Amino acid sequence: MEQENSRNAERINAETAEKYQKYVNPTALNLLRLAGFDRVESEGCGAVLRDVEGNEYIDCLGGYGVFSLGHAHPKVIEAVYAQMKRLPLSSKTFLNKPLADLSEKLASLAPGDLQYTFISNSGTEAVEAALKFARIATGRTKIVSTIGSYHGKTFGALSASGRESYKKPFEPLLPGFSHVPFGDIAALEAAVDDETAAVILEPIQGENGIRIPPDDYLPAARRICDAHQALLILDEVQTGLGRTGTMFACERYGVAPDIMTLAKALGGGVVPIGATMGTPAVWAKVFAENPYLHTSTFGGNEMACAAALATLEILEAEDLPAQAAIKGEKLLSGLRQVQSRYPDLLEEARGRGLMIGVEFADSDIGKLAIGALLKNGVIAAYTLNNPKVMRFEPPLIITDVQIERVLSAFDSALRETQELLDELLA
Ligand code: PMP
Repeated sequence: MEQENSRNAERINAETAEKYQKYVNPTALNLLRLAGFDRVESEGCGAVLRDVEGNEYIDCLGGYGVFSLGHAHPKVIEAVYAQMKRLPLSSKTFLNKPLADLSEKLASLAPGDLQYTFISNSGTEAVEAALKFARIATGRTKIVSTIGSYHGKTFGALSASGRESYKKPFEPLLPGFSHVPFGDIAALEAAVDDETAAVILEPIQGENGIRIPPDDYLPAARRICDAHQALLILDEVQTGLGRTGTMFACERYGVAPDIMTLAKALGGGVVPIGATMGTPAVWAKVFAENPYLHTSTFGGNEMACAAALATLEILEAEDLPAQAAIKGEKLLSGLRQVQSRYPDLLEEARGRGLMIGVEFADSDIGKLAIGALLKNGVIAAYTLNNPKVMRFEPPLIITDVQIERVLSAFDSALRETQELLDELLA
């Protein structure tokens, strides 16, 4: 029986890989194969992911921040299922109660005067809306962003993003975007003027390798925007909803944006959803003349809103932002201890809450370590814009025992990586 299951799993792996080769993305398949990720995922529960062979992994990649509640959270699934049976998608004609309830809930949680919400289906769509709203609200077109930033891969969000290799092949992108070094107040000050519609920032750069700015950066960005009546857009797609130890990363600095984007964790790891929040002043300009100036067929559908509402309720009821702060400290201090044992391999471990990055001496060492970590039952991943950094963004519901297992797997992975390097260099 066991043998048959194992043969079955092997067949599913091989057939799926072949379909990737023929119908999906052969280059991606090769990349996944290199690190040992060329196997089919099958089930998720909490912080644990299983493949078809029945191997279990602690998921520290967490869908790049999607699985804050873990995989397949029963309460989110229940809320979605209840809604799904009645009316999964909006008719787009009548009032939509889950959309109204979710928007009210977001307003009660969001910082400052953020009161209105436009719901879409992904992070990049949330950013597209933010950029369009900033233009309309100010009547200006210039946007200042940061080098290394990641805001998505549709044209507007890509124009805002700060990694050339994703942008160059698609030029010309949107005009009016400039990029300054992240965390550099003087550079921001010099780039913003009276023609600037908005500054767009991630409170912590995620894909660029968990870059935390100096403490006075966001307050300075707020001040600089105000001085020129430009808007501040904070992209909390990855940092938002408890990940960094507060509900929103900007709370720590006492800074509130004019526009804020959310996605990833908002759907509870069950349904895709994006959100763009704005102040009454912004909304008055965006929708005053034409309420349908910006729309989305699927955005705001009942099923996604029910998932998001349940997610926010769970985050609050279980105080998961505070949990992220406590567990993040434990994980980060453990990773730093491992780092001190392998100073030649690892340069730094840094992070806030459960948004943690470990920086390798070079990206090839990082590649070897990811594969070794997988063999030890833990999934972590590269950051898209900085392959020297391995990212740990586990579910906020990860248990202390699981954190201990992650740390011991990481230690073993580095030992094996060191042994492999010694062999290669011998
Ligand atoms: N903004 C930030 C800060 C992100 O990290 C991401 C995704 N990594 C996005 C936007 C884009 O989100 P999506 O992939 O859902 O379009």
